[in-house]
Amino acid sequence: MLINLTSDTVTKPSKAMLEFMMQAEVGDDVFRTDPSVNNLESYTVDMFGMEAALFCPSGTMANQIAIKAHTNALDEMICHKLSHVYLYELGGYAFNSGIAVELLDGPHGKITADQIKKVIKPEADWLPNSKLVVLENTANKAGGSYYNLDEIKPISKLCKEENLALHLDGARLFNALVETGESTKDVGAEFDSISICISKGLGAPVGSVLIGKKTFIAKARKLRKMMGGGMRQAGYLAAACQYALMHNIERLKEDHERAQAIGTILEQLPFVHNIRPIQSNIIIFDVKNKYTGDQFVEALKSQNIHTAKMGVDTIRFVFHLDIKEEMVSRLKEVLYAL
Ligand SMILES: *Cc1c(COP(=O)(O)O)cnc(C)c1O
Repeated sequence: MLINLTSDTVTKPSKAMLEFMMQAEVGDDVFRTDPSVNNLESYTVDMFGMEAALFCPSGTMANQIAIKAHTNALDEMICHKLSHVYLYELGGYAFNSGIAVELLDGPHGKITADQIKKVIKPEADWLPNSKLVVLENTANKAGGSYYNLDEIKPISKLCKEENLALHLDGARLFNALVETGESTKDVGAEFDSISICISKGLGAPVGSVLIGKKTFIAKARKLRKMMGGGMRQAGYLAAACQYALMHNIERLKEDHERAQAIGTILEQLPFVHNIRPIQSNIIIFDVKNKYTGDQFVEALKSQNIHTAKMGVDTIRFVFHLDIKEEMVSRLKEVLYAL
């Protein structure tokens, strides 16, 4: 039995999802004639109460399109220093959009309106033009911590006052929402654009959706084509995403409960320290003494448990719908025996 905690991207489509995919009606999405893609886009538009949506091959592409659609070269994006858009998209903000970045620090991967206000650049011949703020919810590298709407609203208000666009990297937004109980429509009202990943804990094999205003999505659609993301019979993939949104949101709670249970065990292990607050499906912690990061990963691998290193001695466990109860029991046994 392989227990793969490397990422929530490793999930494979269930039989029911595959059957739903096989029944999908497809066309050619570049001509906008793929009914399954069109359905998915309008489904997410209704979900978030926004104007338009665009199906994208990956979360990275959805974020990169959003950054480019919101900015011009020599503008600047403001985000947390642990952000995916900064760390894990190869500096695409600079490569694709020619913009600068202002990095903020703050607990749990989150930033505040006060922090943003202090770094907005005045007009000067030698400064980039502050144009875009990107929030990440949940915050991956901080260990899956989440924002409440009460924390987002002052940021959204500031962005409106200062004429900054506000994008949400909501790769794991639904993990946040099942915890806060807040609605997708209330989130949609605060942002100019939102990207969601459906190939993470929701279990679709491929797919992200970018949601925003009509004019923004019209621009985004051109950028998607330019980046090579115009897919043809994409409806089979869109159907998988549709299925995931209809069936797999509420169950994310189970992943969170399992992460909590494993966290309780990790707390008791003498070689584990600095466990980041566990708020959703991710556990990030450091190892010391008995194990280096590499040795810890190897020790688990020899028991058929796969994990990822997030730093020299930093380990990440991610729970998702392919981690079943018997795997959690086995993981507990192995951890106690280390
Ligand atoms: C996974 C992830 C993305 C996008 O990832 P893809 O693998 O390109 O789909 C974006 N932001 C965050 C926070 C993520 O965890």
